[in-house]
Amino acid sequence: MRGGLLESGAAKGLNMAGKKQTVEIIALQCTECKRRNYTTTKNRKTMQEKLELMKYCKWDHKHTLHRETKVK
Ligand SMILES: [Zn+2]
Repeated sequence: MRGGLLESGAAKGLNMAGKKQTVEIIALQCTECKRRNYTTTKNRKTMQEKLELMKYCKWDHKHTLHRETKVK
C-alpha cells in the first residue's frame, strides 16, 4: 500500500524535472555573520518568495535568521 503511494509521487517528480528545471539548489546564509551554513533545494514553482528560516548558526552559537542565496 505504502509502496504504491511512493511510486506515484516519484513519477510526478520525475515528470516535472524532465520538462523543465524547477528545483534549484540554494544556500542558506546567516544574516548575522554572513556565513553559508546550510544548503537546500527549492521548487521555483511552489516557492517564489525568498526563503527565510530560523536556523542554528554554529558560529554565533544561537538560532539566527538565514536567508537564501545563490550557490556558486
Ligand atoms: Zn551566523
